[in-house]
Amino acid sequence: MEAYTPMSVEEFRRAAHETVDWMADFLGSIEQYPVRSQVEPGEIMAQLPDSAPSEAQPLEAIMEDFKQIVLPGVTHWQHPSFFAYFPANSSYPSVLAEMLTATLGAQGMIWQTSPAATEMEQQVMRWLRDMIGLPAEFEGVIQDTASTSTLVALISARERATAFQVNERGFVETERLTVYASSQTHSSIEKGVKIAGFGRQALRQIEVDHEYAMRPDALRRALEADRAAGLVPACVVATIGTTGSTAIDPLAEIAAICKEFGVWLHVDAALAGTAMVLPDLRRFQQGVEHVDSYTFNPHKWMFTNFDCSAYFVRDPATLTRTFEIHPEYLKTKEGTAVNNYRDWGVQLGRRFRALKLWFVIRSYGVSGLQRVIRDHLELAQWVRSEVEASPEFELLAPVPLNTVCLRYRPDPAAPLEEINRLNAEIMERINAGGKAYFTHTKLDGRFTIRFVIGQTYTARRHVEAGWRLLCETARAVKRELG
Ligand SMILES: *Cc1c(COP(=O)(O)O)cnc(C)c1O
Repeated sequence: MEAYTPMSVEEFRRAAHETVDWMADFLGSIEQYPVRSQVEPGEIMAQLPDSAPSEAQPLEAIMEDFKQIVLPGVTHWQHPSFFAYFPANSSYPSVLAEMLTATLGAQGMIWQTSPAATEMEQQVMRWLRDMIGLPAEFEGVIQDTASTSTLVALISARERATAFQVNERGFVETERLTVYASSQTHSSIEKGVKIAGFGRQALRQIEVDHEYAMRPDALRRALEADRAAGLVPACVVATIGTTGSTAIDPLAEIAAICKEFGVWLHVDAALAGTAMVLPDLRRFQQGVEHVDSYTFNPHKWMFTNFDCSAYFVRDPATLTRTFEIHPEYLKTKEGTAVNNYRDWGVQLGRRFRALKLWFVIRSYGVSGLQRVIRDHLELAQWVRSEVEASPEFELLAPVPLNTVCLRYRPDPAAPLEEINRLNAEIMERINAGGKAYFTHTKLDGRFTIRFVIGQTYTARRHVEAGWRLLCETARAVKRELG
């Protein structure tokens, strides 16, 4: 009996060529599409049948529906005028590698299930470690997202603080572990604290200074108070490049305090880690040689398709002791002579994610990556200078990286609520138009439009057009409302 497949290998070849042609046409003309999807809630669902087809359908029909139904419901993260959130950029070499990864369909849970997946991951993580100036004793592993990397750090810190006893017998009443992060940290820290069993109340939100960076004196006071109360400080999470405004926590001072209190120090550099390919920017992570773990997302700003989060640890033994499992059916003769990445995180099964990083790093070269990152940083400084020169706009945070936090404030005497409403309307008007996409945060109660430059295909002309659009839309909205 032959295996049933919906197409033959020759039909696959033909369809694949056509699909690649579509992919190149799409990426080559992506500027024609609205950046933010313009559909209403439920619009896509209404076009999808209620049940699965019982009979085979031809690929042409599936592709046609992809174009007609799916595409309008996609927000185009690869559009050069995507200035929202943080980027999740990709690149031609990354897409090619993802095609190969999908074709191999290999599973990298242990060394034997694909030795190349394991050994390439080991080596590419060393490349990355050296590229961003982390200490040579660090070892890396690819996690799916920064949320998972941080969860893994929190669980490792929990185990170190309790001599691996929570893994053994769970939390007991007498153990009250605490975790510290600034009030500007990403929501994934709180989520990790909940999942890891610390409980949300164990998370201390440390005050920030006027630049939204963690205040080391406030961290010290919180640690002292908790220790005096009989609690056990287990982990501090410092952020290099907060999601709101890319604020940079003072790592060297925080590291010294963590050392003094014997607390695990985890660094969340989800976006900013990529910028560390530029040696002069490593001033932002001074003190990194003293941290216990560090994560950054090549899937954000390093031209590598989602998902790909790099997680580095000083002491892999603590990590594997926290996560290792030894079921009989996964025992192999190689044993501990090789890395078995199932023991380096939450998942058992793992995609061959190192392949796309290898394609990207080799295709760009370190110098190519440095060049593009430098371009993005320069464009952000250009926007900053435009904002500063404008009497009607104002800057709401420093611009150390690629994100400009701004608002329109033509009348300085207007009440906060009114300025907030005005800026929310300006942003919504732009996003509904589809020419560019911005998202916001709130800084000290102020509605803040974030102008983030980090898309693979973003050129100066896109940034200039984005700034012009902001200025024109702001004035139009003001005329209408005023
Ligand atoms: C984006 C971001 C995260 C979350 O990243 P995921 O990979 O989507 O989990 C965490 N921390 C910071 C600072 C971020 O900017």
